[in-house]
Amino acid sequence: GNGYRVLKTPSLNKGLGFTSAERETMGLKGLLPPATLTLEAQVELTVQEMRRKSTPLEKYVFLQSLQDVHSTLYYAVLSRHTYEVMPFVYTPVVGEACQKFSQIYRHTPQGLYLSLQDRGQLRSILDNWPVDDIRAIVFTDGERILGLGDQGIDGMGIPIGKLALYTACAGVHPSHCLPVTLDVGTNNQAKLDDPYYIGLKHRRLTGPEYDAFVGEFMEAAVDKYGESVMLQFEDFGNNNAFRLLHHWQEKVCCFNDDIQGTAAVALAGILASTALTGIRVETHRFLFMGAGEAGAGIAELIAYAIKVETGKTIEECRKQIFMVDSKGLVCLSRLEGLQHHKRDFAHDVEHVPDLLSAVKAIKPTALIGVSTLAKSFNETIIREMSAMNKRPVIFALSNPTSKAECTPEEAYKWSNGMAVFASGSPFEPVEFNGKTYIPGQGNNAYIFPGIGLAAVACGATRITDLDMYIAAKALADAVPEDRLEASCIYPHLENIREVSLKVAVAVAANKYATGQASVLPKPTDLESYVRSVMYEPGY
Ligand code: NAP
Ligand code: MN
Repeated sequence: GNGYRVLKTPSLNKGLGFTSAERETMGLKGLLPPATLTLEAQVELTVQEMRRKSTPLEKYVFLQSLQDVHSTLYYAVLSRHTYEVMPFVYTPVVGEACQKFSQIYRHTPQGLYLSLQDRGQLRSILDNWPVDDIRAIVFTDGERILGLGDQGIDGMGIPIGKLALYTACAGVHPSHCLPVTLDVGTNNQAKLDDPYYIGLKHRRLTGPEYDAFVGEFMEAAVDKYGESVMLQFEDFGNNNAFRLLHHWQEKVCCFNDDIQGTAAVALAGILASTALTGIRVETHRFLFMGAGEAGAGIAELIAYAIKVETGKTIEECRKQIFMVDSKGLVCLSRLEGLQHHKRDFAHDVEHVPDLLSAVKAIKPTALIGVSTLAKSFNETIIREMSAMNKRPVIFALSNPTSKAECTPEEAYKWSNGMAVFASGSPFEPVEFNGKTYIPGQGNNAYIFPGIGLAAVACGATRITDLDMYIAAKALADAVPEDRLEASCIYPHLENIREVSLKVAVAVAANKYATGQASVLPKPTDLESYVRSVMYEPGY
C-alpha cells in the first residue's frame, strides 16, 4: 500500500506525527500504534534516547540511522539541539566514525560513491541519485580526513556530516544537498589489508590521471545540475588541495573549506579583535606557526583583506605576514624546493630555526597557531609577545584540544589577562584576577553554512576571495558587546542560524553586485528572501 511506502521514505515519514485524518487517507491505519506525538515531543524523546547511548560512536550511529528513516525528525533534533548534537554529527566523533566507516556501513544510500572503476561513466551515475535538483555538494577523496590522514572511501562520513551542518546551522534544504566521495584508492595499509574495507583495494591514483578523474566529476556535476551548483572541496591532501582549488575556482562555483573557510573564520577573529586591540588588520604584523592548508589559506586571505583596506598590491600586503614551518622561518634563502603554497610568504629575512627566535626577529603583533604542535606557545613565547604588545593577539587553532598550541588559561595567565585569544577547539570560560574571560572558538561552522546558504539562495556561479572577505566581515560584525567585554571575538554558537543568515545576506549581496547570481531578478528585500529560503524542519 501507499502508506507503507510513505513510512519507508525518510523525507515523507512523520513517525507518530501523522494525524488521524492522514492515517485514514494515506492508508496508514494499522501500520502505526494509535498514539499521536508532535514533532517537538518526538524531538525530546529522541534526544533523551541519544543521551542514554553509552559511547559517542553509538550516538553517531543512532543519529545517522534516524536520518535514514525519518529525516524531518533528524533535522529537527539537529536544529533544536545544535550545540549538544553537533559533536556527534561532525567533529570530533565523525573522525572515529570515518575510521570505522566500513564496519558501521548501514546499507542505505546517503550519498554517491564514485569509484575509479566508474571512470567515463560519472555523468550517467549522477542520474542514479533520486533527486535532480542538487545545489550543494560536499566532496572528498578521503586523503586527509581531519587530522587522521588517509581514510580512503571511509572518508564519506565527512561530506555527510558537513552537509548536515549546512542544514542545521544555516537551513540549507537537505534535499538540495549531495555528499560525494571520490574513491581514488587509498595508501592506508590497514584499510588495504582489511577484508571488510568497502572501498577499492588499490593504491591512490596520482598525477594527470587523478586530475582527470576529479575533472570528470566536476564537469559531470556542472552538466547535470547547472553552473550554479556549489562544489565544496573537503579534506583533500596538501599535494592536491591547492592545485585543484586554483584550477577550478575561476571555472565553477567551488571553494575549499579547509583552506578558505578556515581563512574566513580566522580573518573574522582578526577583524573583531580591533575593538580590543585598536590595531587594524593592515597595521598588524602576523607570525604563523604552521604553513599548511590552514596557515596558507589564512595568510592569503589576510593579505587580500589588507589589499582591500589599503589598495596596496598583494605582494606588498604579504610582506607583513611571516610563517614558521617544521624547518623554521620561511624565507627567501629556502625558496628552492619550498612547497608552492609557502612561496609567496618567503621574505627577504634571515633564516632562524624556531618559533622563539622568529618571534624575536619578526616582532609580531599577532601569533597564529595552525601547526598541530601542542604546547608550542609556551610561557617564554607568550611573555615575549606580551612584552612587545599591549594586547597580543594569540590564536591557538590546532585541533583537537590536545593539539592546541596553548590553552586559554595559559594565554591569559602569561599575558596577565591581556591576550586576545581564540582557539580551534572549544574551551570553558576562564576566571583570572576576578574577571571572566570567554575563549572564542574559531569554528568553521560560523562561515561555511552561510556561504552555502548564500550560494543556494542567489544561485551563485562563483565563490571568490572577496566573498570570503565579506563573510569574515559579516561574522566580525555579528560579535555582540557582551562577548567583547569578556575578550571573546566570536558570537555565541547557540545563535549560529542568525549568524549564518547575516553571513549569507552579505555574500549574496556581493554576488548580485558582481553579476555572479543566477536567481534573477535580485529580490528587493534580500534579507527576508534569504530567510524565506531557510529550511525549518516541520510536518
Ligand atoms: P597541515 O596542512 O598538515 O599543516 C600543518 C603545518 O604545521 C605544516 O606547515 C607543518 O610544517 C607545520 N608543522 C608541523 N609540525 C611542526 C613543528 N614541529 N614546528 C613547526 N611547524 C610544524 O594541516 P592544516 O590543515 O593546515 O591544519 C593545521 C591545524 O589547524 C590542525 O590542527 C587543524 O585542526 C587546525 N585547523 C583549525 C581550524 C579552525 O580552528 N577553524 C580550521 C582548520 C584547521 P611543514 O609544512 O614543514 O610540514
Ligand atoms: Mn576539513
